[in-house]
Amino acid sequence: MYKVRAYSAESSESDLSPVTIERRNLEDTDVQMEILYCGICHSDLHQLKNDFGVTVYPIVPGHEIVGRITKIGPKVTKFKLGDLAAVGCIVDSCGKCEYCESNLEQFCDEGAIFSFNSPDKHTGGVTFGGFSDSYVCDEKYVFHMPESLDPAAGAPLLCAGITVYSPLKHWQAGSGKKVGILGIGGLGHVAIKMAKAMGAHVVVFTSSPSKIEDAKRLGADEAVLSTDADQMNKYARGLHLILDTVSAKHDVNTYLNLLRHDGSVVLVGLPPEPLEVGAFSVVSGRRSFSGSNIGGIAETQEMLDFCAERNITAEIELIKIQEVNKAMERLEKGDVKYRFVIDMASLKYE
Ligand code: NAP
Ligand code: ZN
Ligand code: ZN
Repeated sequence: MYKVRAYSAESSESDLSPVTIERRNLEDTDVQMEILYCGICHSDLHQLKNDFGVTVYPIVPGHEIVGRITKIGPKVTKFKLGDLAAVGCIVDSCGKCEYCESNLEQFCDEGAIFSFNSPDKHTGGVTFGGFSDSYVCDEKYVFHMPESLDPAAGAPLLCAGITVYSPLKHWQAGSGKKVGILGIGGLGHVAIKMAKAMGAHVVVFTSSPSKIEDAKRLGADEAVLSTDADQMNKYARGLHLILDTVSAKHDVNTYLNLLRHDGSVVLVGLPPEPLEVGAFSVVSGRRSFSGSNIGGIAETQEMLDFCAERNITAEIELIKIQEVNKAMERLEKGDVKYRFVIDMASLKYE
């Protein structure tokens, strides 16, 4: 084991504060990276606050990790020292179930191991995330970060990016499709860029009047204020697919009613409370209410390469780790355009 600087929280009420944690020594196919940047996802905030009732404290969040390879195990083949690399949500899985064999590690029968707050078979504790200066991971779960992308603005692709890319691809967002994006936060603003790059006609639904113009700047064809019933009525039965990225409880029936027949509302947001679906919202028009969870390892690399070809990254506010508690407060209030990313060099001054 070796010592690493990190930021952790002791309970759902505590702030994040500097600590020293331990990472495992490298095994044969492990790589070690110096973390350069780490994004702040709303899931980090949900877990810090124990919104899902499963958080193990102390918790070190962070799962949008970009860094440079600093050490490699003797059997590593994918990476060499100095490579720009990235780690996202998944850092281990059984590797042999039908899901792992189909590149759907996120649905692994034994449960995918996440980069933070998951059981860590190497240490016997829980995994500690990217709010730290170093990470160790089996190379199988590590990505080549395209050098052409800005590494700070590219970090949010590791969770926000794959979480929206995977369902947009699965539900065939593309030319001839009208795709709704619900909520313009970290996930939603990247989804606008990706759906547009896939060739879809993109309609954004936001509860924030200040984001209407921004949505168009980000590439949306149309932007709708979801609190304005007249504007909303114009889209009734008009969309093939709606990607729902909202992080809090909301009425999904409103959006199911904006679908054409056979259309789907796909939930990727994780409101902690159950959502109600009215029978007529789905039986009318044979509509579906469904969901999607991050994406597999191969698909994440595919997404990074897709973004590199089109120069798609997030719009970020780069912060120092010493500002992380303030950033969490602002994220809770929806006051970020559109992703906080921590410049991990700031941790060196602790
Ligand atoms: P975020 O940056 O906070 O964005 C969430 C957006 O939802 C806000 O910007 C806001 O958009 C909208 N919103 C928030 N509260 C609302 C309310 N009460 N009513 C209506 N709209 C509201 O969060 P994020 O990082 O994009 O994450 C979004 C959600 O996805 C979180 O729940 C996160 O945990 C989850 N997530 C899931 C996965 C997965 O694999 N399924 C992966 C990553 C994240 P407007 O201002 O435009 O209305
Ligand atoms: Zn996330
Ligand atoms: Zn598996």
